[in-house]
Formats: sequence, C-alpha cells, structure tokens
Amino acid sequence: MATVVWLEEVGKDDIPVVGGKGASLGEMINIGVPVPGGFAVTAQAFRDFLDRSGIATKLFESLDVDVNNNKELARAEAEAKEIVLSTRVPVDIEKAVKSRYQELCEREGEEVFVAVRSSATAEDLPDASFAGQQETFLNVRGADAVFEAVRKCWASLYGARAIFYRVEQGFEHDKVNLSAIVQKMVDSEKSGVMFSSHPSTGEPQVIIEGAWGLGEMVVSGSVSPDNYVVDRARKEIIDRRIAIKEIMAVRDLKTGDTVINPVPKDRKEAVVLKDSEILSLTNYAEVLEKHYGIPQDIEWGIEDNKIYILQSRPITTINNKKAARKPASSEVGDKKVLVSGLGASPGVATGAVRIVTGTRDLDKVTKGDIMVTVMTMPDMVPAMRRAGAIVTDEGGMTCHAAIVSRELGCPAVVGTKNATKVLKEGEMVTADGGRGKVYQGAVARAAAPAAAAVAVGAAPYRPITATEVKVNVSMPEAAEQAAATGADGVGLLRLEHLILGLGKTPSYFIKNGLTEEYVEELVKGIRVVADAFYPRPVWVRTLDAPTDEFRGMEGGDDEPFEHNPMLGWRGIRRDLTDTDHFRLEISAFKRLHEAGLTNVGIMLPLVQHVSELRKAKEIMVEEGLDLETIDVGIMVETPGAALTIEEFIEEGLDFVSFGTNDLTQYTLAVDRNNENVAKLYTELHPAVLKLIEYVVEECREAGVKTSICGQAGSYPEMAKRLVEIGITSISANIDAVAVVRETVARSELKMMLDALRER
Ligand code: PEP
Ligand code: MG
Repeated sequence: MATVVWLEEVGKDDIPVVGGKGASLGEMINIGVPVPGGFAVTAQAFRDFLDRSGIATKLFESLDVDVNNNKELARAEAEAKEIVLSTRVPVDIEKAVKSRYQELCEREGEEVFVAVRSSATAEDLPDASFAGQQETFLNVRGADAVFEAVRKCWASLYGARAIFYRVEQGFEHDKVNLSAIVQKMVDSEKSGVMFSSHPSTGEPQVIIEGAWGLGEMVVSGSVSPDNYVVDRARKEIIDRRIAIKEIMAVRDLKTGDTVINPVPKDRKEAVVLKDSEILSLTNYAEVLEKHYGIPQDIEWGIEDNKIYILQSRPITTINNKKAARKPASSEVGDKKVLVSGLGASPGVATGAVRIVTGTRDLDKVTKGDIMVTVMTMPDMVPAMRRAGAIVTDEGGMTCHAAIVSRELGCPAVVGTKNATKVLKEGEMVTADGGRGKVYQGAVARAAAPAAAAVAVGAAPYRPITATEVKVNVSMPEAAEQAAATGADGVGLLRLEHLILGLGKTPSYFIKNGLTEEYVEELVKGIRVVADAFYPRPVWVRTLDAPTDEFRGMEGGDDEPFEHNPMLGWRGIRRDLTDTDHFRLEISAFKRLHEAGLTNVGIMLPLVQHVSELRKAKEIMVEEGLDLETIDVGIMVETPGAALTIEEFIEEGLDFVSFGTNDLTQYTLAVDRNNENVAKLYTELHPAVLKLIEYVVEECREAGVKTSICGQAGSYPEMAKRLVEIGITSISANIDAVAVVRETVARSELKMMLDALRER
C-alpha cells in the first residue's frame, strides 16, 4: 500500500485509503472541478507507523478513560499525543512525505505554502464522518515543516474532543485511522461557501455566501457574508443581500501566517462577487450535485480571478419533505432567522430550546441543548457547561454570559431582546455565535466546532514579544487550557465566578461561622490557576460582583436592593465596608504565598480614589501580608482613577490594569449590559483612548507596570495601539491569545523598522 498518493490518483471509492475528505478532493479533480493540487499521506501509512514503531498497544491503552471526567480526558489526550509525537517515524515514510512535497513544489514552480488537513476514516465504517474532530494546519512551507504538520495531524486524532466523540458514537479507537491531506494553499481574495440546493427546502436554488479574504471567517461564522440566491432553472440571480463585512483573514506573504485585519473602508459594504463569478460558482455547484446525486455544501475561494473549489460534502439537513413542498415565505436567504443579537462567542450549534427562568429550570438543560434565558447568572454555570449554545435577551459583549461562554468555548448570542419570548420550549434551532443569529431548525454546518474560530489564530509557531501577552481566566477549570496558550501569565483571575459558584453569599459564610470553609475554597480555586502558571504571575482580582448577582444564592435575601448595581456596592467599595470579607480574601492570599505560590498578585477593582488603595494596603499589612514580596495593583476602570493616577503612583503600587469594560461604560455613560445602547459602546472612543494613554505615560515614567484585562485587549486593533503607546502587557481571552500575540509581534517589528528607517 502506497505511503503517499496524488489527489488525482484517488476517487470516491478510496475513503479507506485517504478518508472522506481526500476521496472527495480526488473525485472532484477527476470530474474537472478546479481543486488546488496536492497529495495525501495515506491512512495505511499512519497505521504502518503505529504498528512498526510498536506503540499501538500503549497508545490505545492510554485512551481507556472515563470521557465524562474532564481531568481523565485531558490526561489521556496529553499522554496519547505525547506517545505519537515523541515516537520516531520510520525513515521510509518520512522520506516519502518529504520528497512528495518537493515534487509538488516542482509542479507548482515554487516552494508552496500548503494546508495539511486531517481526513479520518473508520476501518469498518468508511462512511462515518469525523468532520471537525481533528486539526488542520494552514500556511505550512518547507519539507520539514510539512512532515511535522503531518505528525501533528496524526496526534490530533487523540485530541480530547476526538476521543470523546468516538466513545460517544461507539467507535473503537484502534479502528479509526487518519490520512493527512497536503494541499496547496489558495490565497483567496474572496471566499465563502455555497449550497447547490436550498439547504432546508431542497429547492433548485444555489445559495452562495461570500466575504473578503480567506475562507476561515465565513466558515467559522466570524463575519457576516454577502448572500446571493440563484434560480438554477432560469440561471438568474434572484436575491442579493450585501452585508457589512468588518474583518477579513489574509495571508502574510512573507511568513505565511493568517492575520485578521479590518476590512478597508471602501470594501466594507461593497459587493463581493461579480455576476459572472456567481454564475460560474453556480455551474460548479450543479456539476457537483449532479455527479454525487445529492445536494452539496461547498467551500470555494477566488485567487487572481480564478475560482477554486476547496471542499464539497453532502448537505445533511434536507430531509423535511413537508418543508420542501411549502417553503416559509419569511425565510431570509437559506434560513429563517428567529432572533438576532450580538455574536458574543463564536461557533454554531443545533439543539432543542430550553428556556431557563431561574435555578429551578437548570436541570432541564441537558447536553447540547440551546439554553435560552433573560441573562445568565453565576449559579447557572453548571447548566452552561452542558449547553450546546447560550442565547440571552439582555447583555453586551462583556456581560456574564459572553465572558463565561467564551471561556467554555460555547457559542453564544446575547442581547436578542426577546429570545425567551420568541423561541419555544423544545423547538429545534441553530444558534450561530459568530453571526449573532438563531435560525429555525438544523442548518448545514451546524456541527462546525467553535474551535474553528480559534484555529485561525492557532498558528503553529509562537513569536516572542517584548510586550507580554497574558490571558484572562474566570473559572479554575479553564486553567490548563489557558496555560496551554503559552501566555506570559494571568492578567485577570476573576474571583467572583469562583465565589458565586459556591452557591452561598460571602456574608452567609461569615454569619454562619463557615469562614474556614470559605477561605479554603478560595485557596483551592486560586491554587489551580497559580499552579498551572507558576512561576508566571497570576493577578487575582478581589471580589467584584454587583449585588443583584448574589440575590439567587443562599443568603442572597440579605443583599441590599440597588437602583443601579453597576454603580453600586461592588469591588473595592464592598471590600472596604465589608472588611470581614476582605480580610478573609487576604488570608487566602497569605496562605497561597506561604505555600510557595509567590506568583499570586492582588488586583483591586473599581478603585476611584487613592484613599481606597491606601486603606486596602493598611488592611493587608494588618493581616500580615508582606507588601515587599507580593504584587499589588489596581484596575483602572473609572475615569476618576485614570485622571488622578499620579496620586496612586505616589501612594505606591506595582501595576495598573485597564478594565476597559467598565472604563468604557463609565466614560461614555453607556451601560455595558444594555442591548438598546450596545451600538454606542466602543472601547476605541477617543476619550477612552486618551485616558489610557495618559495613564500609560505617567506609569511608564514612574516604572509602574501597565496592562489591560478588559475585552478590548482581545481586539487586534486595540492591541496594536496599546503596543504603540508602550503598555507593558496585554491580557486576552483564551481564544484570542494567539491572534493578539501575533498582532503584538507584528506591531513591535513595525515600530522597530520605522525607528531604523528614521535614523
Ligand atoms: C473590566 O471592567 O474591563 C473588567 C475586566 O472587569 P469586569 O468585566 O469583570 O467588570
Ligand atoms: Mg470591571
């Protein structure tokens, strides 16, 4: 059995050799569809590697775990991947892969960038689909790098999600093999997806979605694409909806890395596809549907005016005969939108609606359900973990639901205003957390994993940056995933998610003599994160939850009612009036330091006057903390703190961190959780930027570290500006670390080049 085969040498019957993806690409080439050239490292080559190196038994034994136990699953993943990646591949296989890549380069006339994709296949069930379970590596160049990427594809067969999926679906691990497809990258100027027939009614209409740049943005749902509908019988474009396209993925021609850029102004609202292109795409869609005898879901790209078909697979949603006879008249494009809001956490999920109005409803949310609620509360987190997606009536990009969903990697649509009223209990819907839409029924590509959005940033290399890139963590269970980003530390550990997760208010613990239990819980939760990052710094923020978030918990009845909890008794204000509680937090920090976790620092939230820092430090000293050995800093999230920063510097502090979620709402008078004014909420407002610049300048002169831990730190545009003004570190969400790091590296290089040129 061959180790490598050209794609044109295989066809639809070769799934056991090159997996479903490889077979489909080969088949398309053979019927004259323009597919980028390449080859496949066969599934047998992979199996040969396992057998000849003698690792098969050990490997499959390491996978024998309880997949519902996250820790065990993570351990299995780490162990199995280590086995695959640390084992030498037989030289003949290595040679075959590398020389086939060289031949591909000769064919193309240059050392080409390639995508290395995983194409899994089950020995006894060749038709099984493992789409989205394994990894893809983009922009790979050079024989060594290609071979490394092939090995990583092999290892990705043992990623946690893939292991979980196989067990859930009843596949035996040792019966599933993987072919790695090595294919020339298309540097698309525009790209998208199309359906050869209407995906829910089956009508003979081609539905095309297109946006600027590489296809990842459309596939992951991170950008709203243009939508075109073509009547196949009349060969006529019957509908065109032009979207506002905010971002695009492009390939850096030198490094090959994918970079996410804002779309230039003149192209934001411009039509992506010419009529001739729409009709050519329609033609390919028809050819493919005819050939396969079943409607297709197709990915395409256009480079130098040449169309490439990147992938084609059957649409799985056309099965509703009733709908096929009578399409709903209010359908938009190919799907009926039930509610719209802000796309707060990317990814797409289909499931049954579960309306949650309080804690009593949480149990009805089972794995994969679409959880719909007015606004999530911390006590809902266990149900959020099970949900396939989260949809809320209220909220903006920095509300509780958005923050937690991003950390859980769960798609979320927030601020829909009326989802709890419009969506019906038990109804099947598809929530698209990139586009901010909830569609009726199951929509094609519903299984696209949230991780698709992450993959864009998951460049295989990690640039060194002078500006540190850190990560935000809210739940200790995300610690390992956060540490795996290689971040330079934790710029914000939100303590309130941990505290609110205990189900009892801090006052309840104190009133009922349970202070020891409380401190132990704090120590336990913080320790998980501090351990995962040691010796990298972890700045832990003291409790910052508005009073309304405590209401549903045991002891919540004693919380004061406030007209505007956002401006109320939260953050440092609560710490300094409920000093019993603050002292408990301090004793937790003390214990952690005594246990050797000296990387734990303390960050004070919502500070607005220097006296608050002074008082907090006094209490810390009274409680026996050595301020010489522990980093203490404040969040700058009120204009008051920003404009008097020199007084804080004089008082003495180690760092400041911009809480831009709050700094923006307090500077612009825009409630961050109010969907009615969400359009006015922007961290890039000149007033917010002016405050940040002022603070960075003052701190830089005084040698105080500056950082950002608000959501804006995850936006490349903001990261670039912050590097330019000289911030010390940027703390991003887990899924944004890679992209931010790349942006930081690029901005730093650009600044150095500019400086050199000016000399
Ligand atoms: C902020 O305000 O930017 C911040 C990070 O804190 P939180 O979102 O928890 O209020
Ligand atoms: Mg804040």
